[in-house]
Amino acid sequence: MGEWKEPYTMCSTCRAMGEVVCPDCYGSGHDVNTDEDCYTCNGTGHVECPTCHGDTYVRNKW
Ligand SMILES: [Zn+2]
Ligand SMILES: [Zn+2]
Repeated sequence: MGEWKEPYTMCSTCRAMGEVVCPDCYGSGHDVNTDEDCYTCNGTGHVECPTCHGDTYVRNKW
């Protein structure tokens, strides 16, 4: 039995949350230009993590 190396590691971009603060509204969910819900995050204030795409883990690079 060889030593098993975990092929995935916790995503450091979102800290395993799967989502990050919206870069357009900075988490407010509000578009200051249009005075409506932020188009990027649909008013949630968060968007899918661009690094792990919501998986919270990323594949290690060997
Ligand atoms: Zn937003
Ligand atoms: Zn992530």
